[in-house]
This record gives sequence, structure tokens and C-alpha cells, in this order.
Amino acid sequence: MTKRLWIETVGCQMNVLDSELVVAALRRQGWELARDGSQADAVFYNTCSVRQHAEDKIYSALGRIRLEKAKRPELVVGVLGCMAQKDQDLVRRRAPWVDLVVGPGQLHQVPALVEAVRAGGGPRLEVSLDRKGASREAIARSFESYDPDRDPAMRPTPFQAFIRTQTGCDKFCAFCVVPHVRGPEQARAPDTIVAEARKLVAEGCREVTLIGQTVNSYRWADGGRTTRLSDLLLRLDALDGLDRIKFVTNYPRDMTDDLITAVRDLPKVCHYLHVPAQHGSDAVLTRMKRGYTIGDYMEMLGRIRETLPEAAVTSDFIVGYCGETDAEFQATLDLVRTAGFKNSFIFKYSPRPGTKAHERLADDVPEETKKERNRVLLEAQEEASLAGNLRFIGTRQRVLVEGLSARDERREADPGPEGTAQLAGRTMCDRIVVFDAPLRLVGRIVDVEIHAAGAWSLSGVVADGLAEAVPLEDPPAACGTALDLHDIALPRPAARGPEV
Ligand code: SAH
Repeated sequence: MTKRLWIETVGCQMNVLDSELVVAALRRQGWELARDGSQADAVFYNTCSVRQHAEDKIYSALGRIRLEKAKRPELVVGVLGCMAQKDQDLVRRRAPWVDLVVGPGQLHQVPALVEAVRAGGGPRLEVSLDRKGASREAIARSFESYDPDRDPAMRPTPFQAFIRTQTGCDKFCAFCVVPHVRGPEQARAPDTIVAEARKLVAEGCREVTLIGQTVNSYRWADGGRTTRLSDLLLRLDALDGLDRIKFVTNYPRDMTDDLITAVRDLPKVCHYLHVPAQHGSDAVLTRMKRGYTIGDYMEMLGRIRETLPEAAVTSDFIVGYCGETDAEFQATLDLVRTAGFKNSFIFKYSPRPGTKAHERLADDVPEETKKERNRVLLEAQEEASLAGNLRFIGTRQRVLVEGLSARDERREADPGPEGTAQLAGRTMCDRIVVFDAPLRLVGRIVDVEIHAAGAWSLSGVVADGLAEAVPLEDPPAACGTALDLHDIALPRPAARGPEV
């Protein structure tokens, strides 16, 4: 009997990658992806804890699966990832029908744990050590690195993949739960990262995105030699068959000149830098324990602009943080109006148990004010994004075609491989471009003449005869999964590849 699994993923790119790895491991044990949750023998939720909203969504999903579990007690229900680590046995107290609670540092155990539950062993909780109460080494060891096997069916598209450079985070920003749920920062060996990229390229991957909580803090010391992110980029740039390299997320203080120069000099590295400022006021940055001032941030931005005048810089912002006054919010607004960010992800502050802000500062900005500040800041960013995008009209851009545009995906357009649809892809500076073209261009790099611009995307026409003639193999079906990147810190994929 075939065993079928269904996995729902919320949160960031780390979670997308973790889901890919869990599915790869289960497929090796004979599991297949189900068409939907109701036909699955196991349902997993790969969870996020960064804001309360992300957790609420999972607890409601658990409420819904309860009925299915009542009908089919043999169904295995698993809660994986950051919320499992944060809430631990609370998950089963709130939802006793859950069989498995597995933190991000224990995901390699999932195949064995599922079999144990199916054999009647009862519910299982596997999480890493808390960040207090044990030595750093012991805590680090309890977050086991887990990037062995990959599964193309789980990727945003078959020709794009994430590669982890680090696990965990040591920055301890006052608002952020990540260091608590993903453990101490631990770098992966450069040889491992490069070997993984080589393997992905052999499987047809054209673009890799290096991911770490603060990816530009990457350091690997080996026999007196330190490898930094710029050194990694140099090695990856030399890989035949790889076309594009991105990396997220950057920490402002670690944006060193060697990295900026590497982005300029290495042809495959995208001119796209996500460097969250979080706030425009020094007083708030201090309360956030971000470790830099706005002066420092602007100095860094100046260095980027000087070396990479055309690079897209993007940011995250939190509005309504503890004690945020009108004047402090105004400072964030001023920053968005003047810094020229390609786009910003704006979040309303959500207190996270276990963090310094939750312990020491009152969440005293009313929800209505948070909402209003969110709206005003988004409007300012929209204006800035539009102004930035208008400069592209009349230019020709190299675009990696990712799939149907969001519009045609919504319409469930199915033009067949030779038919024309509205496709979407991204430029080297991560701008979304939509254009009408045959579906067979998905996965290729084409030149597009830009004719129009909105705040969040460009549109244009494929330049005649310039489409690269590289055939695309049929991508695998994207079934067995549901992605909800509502809480993601970066743009959700512009599009998915055609389903076969
Ligand atoms: N280090 C990763 C993940 C951080 S979470 C990264 O930088 O991408 C992504 C974003 O969520 C953060 O940059 C921050 O803007 C926002 N965020 C984190 N904790 C938050 C909280 N408690 N409330 C609201 N937004 C938060």
C-alpha cells in the first residue's frame, strides 16, 4: 500500500527548504505526495512563530484536521518547525489529536517518528534544548544540521532552489523569536555548500538563493583561513550551468565592502540586496537592540549606491513597536520616502514570549494605530517603488521566466505548452516582469523590452529572436503540498511552473 503525505508550509524560505528536505526523506522511505489532505495518511504543518498571526493560522488548521482525524484515527498529524520548538507540549495540550511535535533541529527524525506512531507507539515530542540552561555547545549540538537530500517537486520552481549557509541566529534583536526557536548560529562548511549547488545544477537548477537568518554574517574558519560570504559567491559564480545567485537576509552591520564588490564583479550574482532597517529612529533601534544607528545604516546604503548604483535594495520594517511615538514613526516614514527601497515588507509588531521586548517592554501601541501606520508606510513605499520602476521603461532586461503570472495562475489558465499565456519572471535586480509568451519559455532566460511599470512589477514584450534556445525538461507536478507564504519576509514566488 502506498503511503501518502500532505504538507502545508507557512513562514520563510527556511521553512520552504525544510519542507523540501522532509519530503525528500519521506519519499526515500516509500511515501508519495497526496493530491490533498483528505487522501493523505500523514498530514504535516511546517510552522512559523515570528508573529502571532502565523501561529493562529496553524491552530485553526489543527482545529479543522481534528474532524478528519476523528474519522480516520490512523491518520498521522504532525506539527513541525518553529512553533513546535516554541510551544513544545503546549501544542498537544491545545490539540491532543496531534501525534508528532518536531522542532526545526530534529526534522531528520521525522521518517522514523512517523513509523513509530504508525506502529502504535503513541505521540512523540522531539525538540532541541532551550537557549537558556545549557552550554552553547550542547545547545548547538541539539539543533542538528539537516540538509542531506533534495526533492525538486517541492521547490518554488524546478529551476530555482534554496541552499542553507547557516542555521540559527545569534543577533537576539529584542523583538525576534528566531534565535530562540532556531538555536545558535552555525555555519555549514563551504565545500558542502558548493557541492550542494553543483548537485542542484546537475538536476537542472539555474538559480540558487543562499539563505541564512543573517546570511552576510557567514564565517567559516578552517586551518587559519576564513571563508566569508564573498568567498562563497566567488566559488559559486564559477559553476558551469548556474546562471543566477541570490542571498538573503543581510544584517546591515555585516554589509562589508568585500561583499558589495563581489556583487559588482561576479556576473552571476544578482544586484539585489535585502537589508532590513526595521526602523528609522535611533531610539527605537536601541529599544530593538539592533546594534546600529540610522547614521550607520545610511553610511552602508551610501557604500552600496556608490559601488552598485543600479542595485535593488529592499527592507523590512516593524510598525507599532513598544513605545513607538508619532515622531518615531515619522522617522521610519522619512526613511522610506528618501532611501529608494525597491520594496519593503511591513509588519505590525507582535509580542513574542521569550524575547527581551516581551519580558521588558509594554506592547502599548493600540492595534488601530499599528494598522494605520502600516497603511501609511505601505502607501509611501508604493510611491517610492513606482518611482523606481518607472525608470525601467524603455530598457531591455534579462528575465528568468518563472511561470504563469499571478493573474493567469488565478484564472487557472491552461494554454498547453505551445499556447501563449501571461508569464512572469524576474530581472537580475529581482524586479517582477510580466509578458505574454509561450509557456515553453518557462525556465529560460529571455530579453524583455519594458513598456510599462507599476509599483510591484514591470511589463513588456519578449525581444524577438533573443529567447535562449535551451529546452526545458518537464517539471514535476507540484502536488502533495500547500504553500502559504503570507508571513514570508520576502516576495512569494511570482509564479509557479506549469503543472504536468
Ligand atoms: N532573520 C530573518 C528572519 C526574521 S523574521 C530575516 O531577517 O529575514 C522576518 C521579519 O519579520 C523581520 O525582518 C522583522 O521585520 C519581522 N519580525 C520579526 N519579529 C517580529 C515581531 N515580533 N513582530 C513583527 N514583526 C516581526
